[in-house]
Amino acid sequence: MAETLYDLAIIGAGPAGLTAAIYGGRAALRTAVIEKGSPGGQAATTYMVENYPGFPGGITGPELMDKMERQAREYGAEFFTLEASSISEEAGRFHIAAGGRNIVASSVVIATGAREKRLGVPGELDFRGRGVSYCATCDGAFFREKKVIVVGGGDSAVEEAVFLTKFAAEVLIVHRRDQLRAAKAVQKKALSNPKIKFAWNSVVEEIRGDQNVTSVVLRNVENDERANVHTDGVFIYVGLVPNSECVRGFVATDDQGYITTNEELQTSRPGVFAAGDVRKKLLRQISTAVGDGALAAIKAERYLLGV
Ligand code: NAP
Repeated sequence: MAETLYDLAIIGAGPAGLTAAIYGGRAALRTAVIEKGSPGGQAATTYMVENYPGFPGGITGPELMDKMERQAREYGAEFFTLEASSISEEAGRFHIAAGGRNIVASSVVIATGAREKRLGVPGELDFRGRGVSYCATCDGAFFREKKVIVVGGGDSAVEEAVFLTKFAAEVLIVHRRDQLRAAKAVQKKALSNPKIKFAWNSVVEEIRGDQNVTSVVLRNVENDERANVHTDGVFIYVGLVPNSECVRGFVATDDQGYITTNEELQTSRPGVFAAGDVRKKLLRQISTAVGDGALAAIKAERYLLGV
């Protein structure tokens, strides 16, 4: 059976990939979207998105991403629930190996996003799913009236700490400095929330427990004092790692693995564009991912037209 040749293959169905699919479909490109899990990416695991324009009062991450997916399907994008493992180029066509399939396209948008970084302390992996979590939206409800720790001081840590106060009796934010990195509006909510406490200038050195997490060892980085602090859960939000393994060596990345592009989102390989969190960029937001997705699809269309 002859292989289908897609005009555009998009790897990843977060906000960047879904927007590229909407624009690809509207440009009448035969568009394939390859996504290993459910569409939506990290945004779909965010409880409430408050800074995406057009939704005063906010919109839940799952609802926003469901709308984007529906819109992409309306314009004819074909979805494959497959994990892309590698990509190669042969005679001007790109071959994406995904779950035993070979998806062939004349242009590609890589929108594989990023995943949560591990903290790298003893106990973290042992207690994953038994008190250690990277997703408050998924696991928060298990901690009703419990005490939880959130590690990190960025937007994710602080937003999710506020979300966790819906369930937990107390949320302790453990941050390695004495100032949060999160946007001021988010900081304000956390600082005024009576359920949220802070352990400033502190790091988690170890996560302890029996069947489930029972405590963490905190070290104050200023005076090196250690304390064993009781907790029922540890939510880790210490930054991101790009999901670029499947394209390493195929397109250029920086030393952290983020794909480098020019301003028009062209990677080091003509015909291959990168969009969203997997790309080296200053600001990682749903709004910037959406902008990337639109531009990458339009650039792919122009590449196919040879202009
Ligand atoms: P982030 O902004 O990189 O923040 C990571 C936090 O973890 C920082 O506070 C950092 O401390 C701390 N950290 C890093 N390594 C650590 C370690 N080994 N031990 C202890 N603490 C450590 O990551 P993020 O919050 O996951 O956000 C990722 C991106 O998504 C950002 O660009 C963010 O703006 C964006 N985002 C946006 C929204 C929104 O707009 N609503 C929501 C979520 C995420 P330092 O501050 O000392 O470096």
